[in-house]
Amino acid sequence: MPHTFRPGLEHVMAYRAGKPAPRTADGRSVKLSSNENPYLPLPSVAHRLTEILSASISRYPSIAAPELTEALASRFGVTADNIALGSGSVEVAAQLIHALTAPGDEVLFAWRSFEAYPILTRVAGAVPVEVPLDGAARHDLDAMGSRITDRTRLIFVCNPNNPTGTVVSTAELDRFMAVVPEDVLVVIDEAYVQFDRDPDSPNGIEAFRRYPNIAVLHTFSKAYGLAGLRIGYAIASQQVTEALRKVAVPFAVSQLAQEAALISLASEAELEARIDELVSERDRVTAGLQAAGLEVVPSQANFVWLPLEEASAAVSAEFERHGISVRCFPGEGLRISIGTPAENDAVLEAARAVRA
Ligand code: PMP
Repeated sequence: MPHTFRPGLEHVMAYRAGKPAPRTADGRSVKLSSNENPYLPLPSVAHRLTEILSASISRYPSIAAPELTEALASRFGVTADNIALGSGSVEVAAQLIHALTAPGDEVLFAWRSFEAYPILTRVAGAVPVEVPLDGAARHDLDAMGSRITDRTRLIFVCNPNNPTGTVVSTAELDRFMAVVPEDVLVVIDEAYVQFDRDPDSPNGIEAFRRYPNIAVLHTFSKAYGLAGLRIGYAIASQQVTEALRKVAVPFAVSQLAQEAALISLASEAELEARIDELVSERDRVTAGLQAAGLEVVPSQANFVWLPLEEASAAVSAEFERHGISVRCFPGEGLRISIGTPAENDAVLEAARAVRA
């Protein structure tokens, strides 16, 4: 029997995840299409996960996750009431939209940006309002400010922006906050913040301290390399985190994810070396791609953006022929994640072939 689905669901596109490239004849398949961390988990994390697997996964995890919540609160100088966890920061983004919007309310964000924003917005019955990036692939916060209406409930500022790697400045954010009404929540999505070396970039947590209507989204998926475990969190006012706990799916954050996050937080110094390497590889890849004649937008994330426009699909196919999957936005550009030095060498070799 045919089912009746909620009105509007026909306009929702399922999230499209990056795929590995088909293997080349010499066996190469490099996945650089999902901004993942190319390194295996720290040995301390892997060890703890094995312990839990053989000891306690017959039990439900703690919903409140008090140890992790406390550790995050003290790491960022906030209280436990300011932290809300989710199964990846994408789930926390969904919680924010569900908690703050009613059908017909507007969620504002730059475009192009993280593909989940319009999907999650439509799923909630809210209306996505997409404001084009400027000519340098950066957020146009002045234009975004002018699109705020009395239906705007939530604004996402993705900083650094996925997929362009660009950042806003503290001065731009301050100017923007001056025009945002106090009852509108501005979510600074800092999924890639650990890779940001721009001294003018705002620190989301400091911004939250200055503006109570700011929430910050963080994830353990990128710099911490735990994408497969699914854990992220918001730092926000107590009023917001209480609402997030109401809409959260119970037990969505597994015990494995909680424990791995806790150990990763305690191992930040060890992780820092990996992050530094990814940052210097990003700069090497940017210079190498430019030397191969490709335009690259300067990035503060663990990926780079090539605004190839109509050539995007053909260049993406060329990378795939070299066994490298990148993320193609046909007609707009390509996003290439930073991998290990050897994977990045393969990218540069493929890029030289593109232009040959
Ligand atoms: N925000 C941004 C900007 C992202 O690019 C991503 C992942 N691609 C996420 C949030 C979600 O990450 P996760 O759910 O793995 O924490």
